[in-house]
Amino acid sequence: MNRIEHYIRDIQDFPKPGILFKDIAPLLQDPEGLSACLSELKALVPDVKIDKVIGMESRGFLFGTMLAKRLHAGFVLARKPGKLPYKTISQTYALEYGEDAIEMHIDAIKEGEHVLIHDDVLATGGTAEAVCKLVERLGGKIVQCNFIMELESLGGRKKLQGYDIQTVLKY
Ligand code: AMP
Repeated sequence: MNRIEHYIRDIQDFPKPGILFKDIAPLLQDPEGLSACLSELKALVPDVKIDKVIGMESRGFLFGTMLAKRLHAGFVLARKPGKLPYKTISQTYALEYGEDAIEMHIDAIKEGEHVLIHDDVLATGGTAEAVCKLVERLGGKIVQCNFIMELESLGGRKKLQGYDIQTVLKY
């Protein structure tokens, strides 16, 4: 068993029936869990200069910021529409029913910067794919997409072909 696995709590039927929610609150609450998870995420990152870490709203902000600090990189927020105060660039993506969008500030990434994308869970991969497109529209180079865990049955990895996808845990 991976040393952080027992900090992940399964919540059945949240936020709606049929979803098995992977709750990282116990991991965040425990100083050992917090520190072990950060070390494991950092160990996945290749030994190249990272200029920016992007955290996806909202749980991606948590370890994303800590990873940025560890990597001596800047941190960028990828947020749901209408949340960012400055000029934004937006990317839509398909949901099971309908579509959603994700935004970043237009000055978040400079041409040629090396970017690491982070979130807690890789599920269908729609959000991460949209963030990859935003980064590339701004001229950034994606070094890796990294996650605490991957829900393999949802096939998110297929949407992110061509990128280095790393996760600490797989379910
Ligand atoms: P995705 O389907 O890969 O675009 O995931 C969308 C967002 O929903 C990600 O930011 C995940 O954190 C979150 N998410 C999706 N499925 C789960 C789940 N089963 N448990 C916890 N978070 C989830």
